[in-house]
Amino acid sequence: DPAVELARRGAVMAAAQEKYYERPPQIERGWRELLIDTRGRSYVDMVNNVAVIGHSHPRFGRAVSAQLALLNTNSRFLYSALADLCERIVATSPDPSLDTVLLVNSGSEAVDLALRLARIHTGRNNVVALREGYHGWTMASDAVSTSAFDNPHAAASRPGWVHIVDAPNVYRGRHRGAGAAEAYAADLARLMDEAAGPGADLAAFISEPVLGNAGGVMPPAGYLALVYEQIRARGGLCIADEVQVGYGRLGSHFWGSAQQGVVPDILTVAKAMGNGYPLGAVLTRRDVAESLAGEGNFFSSAGGSPVGCVAGLAVLDVIRDESLQQNADSVGRHLSGRLAELTERHPLIGTVHGLGLYQGVELVRDRDTREPATSETAAICERMLELGVIVQPASERQNVLKIKPPLCLSRESADFFVDCLDEVLS
Ligand code: PMP
Repeated sequence: DPAVELARRGAVMAAAQEKYYERPPQIERGWRELLIDTRGRSYVDMVNNVAVIGHSHPRFGRAVSAQLALLNTNSRFLYSALADLCERIVATSPDPSLDTVLLVNSGSEAVDLALRLARIHTGRNNVVALREGYHGWTMASDAVSTSAFDNPHAAASRPGWVHIVDAPNVYRGRHRGAGAAEAYAADLARLMDEAAGPGADLAAFISEPVLGNAGGVMPPAGYLALVYEQIRARGGLCIADEVQVGYGRLGSHFWGSAQQGVVPDILTVAKAMGNGYPLGAVLTRRDVAESLAGEGNFFSSAGGSPVGCVAGLAVLDVIRDESLQQNADSVGRHLSGRLAELTERHPLIGTVHGLGLYQGVELVRDRDTREPATSETAAICERMLELGVIVQPASERQNVLKIKPPLCLSRESADFFVDCLDEVLS
């Protein structure tokens, strides 16, 4: 009984822990892009960006179970899956300069390690991050996050080394239309060079290549390249948080950095990498990685374990053998086309952000004022659940239906989602 489960959670878990619905379905099984509840009802899952190869993939399950039955230990011993996985990650690299991997267990840890690496490598302290970003829940990754997940007291307690600048949100931000990339980059340059600004003691800039937590907003063309130039001119490193957007989700490119035409100094990945098995990584340059200086200065008990590595390899095998990046591209294009057609008929849709299987349907009460349709978005999600689709509000305003399903999403499921949305909006 879902009500009993909710009560049990409430009794032993913190209220801060997010659940998707007031009365979430009790899910028992997953299959491809479907979640199936205890009553045998199936839902098209448009939100699970971790299960990239699909829920309960048999090849993944078999590989992980076999390794679990054989051995799981830490990276202090030799087993070939570890070097195999690191080689395979390096082979996906957006640039040959990024040739060294450190393995961890989650996105938060990857971001934490990236920030630590940048500060050690540069010998400096300050980090610039974008408003509306989310990078994790550990002390350092939380410090550079400002999204709706944020603790209300976080802004006041934000450490002095963190400097937040406006995200280049061309739909809602201060600069829109032509020249927006330059204008946002100029704002950032101004912030860095203020008297108490981060420019003089700059360690790093961190952002997602696509503004995921803003709802999948694409930065204006050229923005990231300009920012990376400015950061490097002041001696800082550029960190691309690819935890959400990377790993083929954008369809056109494996990494968001490549899609944006930039080469970061440090790249973070997790979520998709283990398809639900906790696994994350930092991909960086050899000289940056070497600033940890010597054996023993970095160790993660389970990061890079045999089971984690086998899980990571199985995910990459399936992405390749089932052409999932290509599927994200073709089903993503189909989805974009159908959503564009919906936008013409339903004034509640302000715009559709993103590409591939990473899109955001931004809902507004008025297309001119762009007043966020927050309560409507929540109501739509509840109604979509009744129809058999799991989709959730995103962004600080909670008015974007963020589409980030498993990359095996079929064209039929994409159509089902759009048809249900059409019905609910009507
Ligand atoms: N970075 C980004 C961009 C994320 O979206 C998330 C998770 N939502 C994280 C980091 C943190 O990852 P994890 O939850 O695996 O710690």
